[in-house]
Amino acid sequence: MMETVLVYHSISTPREPMLADIDISPARFQQQLQWLARTGRVVRLEETLKRASGRAIGITFDDGYRDNLTVALPLLEKFNLPMTLFVVAGFVDSDGYLSEEELREISRHPLITIGAHGLWHRHFNRISFDEARFELKESRRLLEETIGKRVDLMAWPYGECNDALEELAGECGYRAGWSVWKGTNSAFSRWRVPLGRNDHMLRFIAKASGVYGLTEARWHRFREPAAARAPHVAQTLGLPTTAS
Ligand SMILES: [Zn+2]
Repeated sequence: MMETVLVYHSISTPREPMLADIDISPARFQQQLQWLARTGRVVRLEETLKRASGRAIGITFDDGYRDNLTVALPLLEKFNLPMTLFVVAGFVDSDGYLSEEELREISRHPLITIGAHGLWHRHFNRISFDEARFELKESRRLLEETIGKRVDLMAWPYGECNDALEELAGECGYRAGWSVWKGTNSAFSRWRVPLGRNDHMLRFIAKASGVYGLTEARWHRFREPAAARAPHVAQTLGLPTTAS
C-alpha cells in the first residue's frame, strides 16, 4: 500500500465556484479533518518520503491562499494535524494570498512546513529549460529569504513535469517534489490526490484511501474509466461505475 498525499487549495465559500472547483467549505473541511484525525494516519509530509511510510497520509495546500492561515490553520490546530503549504513565491502579497508577514507568521507554526510551487505558477511543460531553472531557483530563494528557513520540498504547478524537469529540481536543491498523477511517481513527481468542493464525505473517504489513489492514478495515466479497469474496487468504495 502506498502513502496518500492530499492536495487542498482554498478553504472558503465563494459565491461562484473557483476555477476547477478547488474551494472547499470550512464545515466540509472540518468533517474531513475529523475523519483524518480518527485514522491516526496523518504524518508530516517528510515522513511520507520514508520507505516504510505504508498507509501514512500527508496534507498539502497549493498556491498559498490567505485562508490557509485564517481558516485552515485554526482547524488543523484543533485536530493537531500537520500540513505543508506549497507557496507560489510571486503571488505573496497579492490579493487573496498570504502577505509576506503572514507567510513568516505561519512558517513559524509547529504544524506547518513551507514548500515551493514555482515563481509565477507557470506551465513547466511549456517554458524553456532556462526559464524552468530560474523558476525553481528563484522561488526557493525568495521563500527562504522571507521565512529564514530552508525550503527543499516543491510541487509542480498544474502537476506538470517530465524526466528532465524532475532531474532539474534535484539540481536546484530540492529534496523531493510532488505532482498530481503526472510524472513517474518517483522522487520529484510523487503523486497526490486532489480534493475539491464536490467531494462529499463518502467520496472523500474513498479518495483518502490508498486503493482509490492507485486506481485513479491509472485512470489519469491511461484515460480509461477506473471502473472499467477495476470494477470490484470501484464498487467496494461506492464509486460510480462505468458511465453510460
Ligand atoms: Zn497550484
